[in-house]
Amino acid sequence: MQRIPVPEPAPAAKEPGSSKGLGRIRHYIDPMDKARTIRNVANVLNLSTPLGLVLGLVGKGKARRVGHLVVFEDVKLPLINASAMTVGDVVLMPGRTVEQASRLIPDLMAHEDEHAWQYAYCLGLPFLPLYGLATAWSMLRTGDRASANHFEVQANLLKGGYRIRDKRPLREGFRTLLKR
Ligand SMILES: [Zn+2]
Repeated sequence: MQRIPVPEPAPAAKEPGSSKGLGRIRHYIDPMDKARTIRNVANVLNLSTPLGLVLGLVGKGKARRVGHLVVFEDVKLPLINASAMTVGDVVLMPGRTVEQASRLIPDLMAHEDEHAWQYAYCLGLPFLPLYGLATAWSMLRTGDRASANHFEVQANLLKGGYRIRDKRPLREGFRTLLKR
């Protein structure tokens, strides 16, 4: 049987309007990836993936599999104001498809995949309050919810489409936040 060659996306494929939106996602899709299979099981048992599935269904997203992640595209949830939010091995993507989001932020799915690992090592739902604390710390240090957020830094800020902001002295951070 002859296989149809899948062309590797050239750098130019990242241009807006390109139809090769899945280009950079492909590199980590491997069904034989045992570590990620174990992660999938762990995130089901620690209840983070079930929570993600419930949110995706409540938000009436269109479910599809992308590698070891389940993505709910065009999800409608009022609390999400990011390009994507990962809960367990589930990625909630408001108002966009994976291809559309990846055209804007080429490594977004790799970034979200890192968050799925973070759920596993936080033993599931404890990730959520820990992420909240990390967000508060980042707001204090940088005025931005991601720049000094341990989880976002570890998942790679640039891959997640975030800008890296300079840290400010703690006292200045407190003063600015209290003024709001
Ligand atoms: Zn992130």
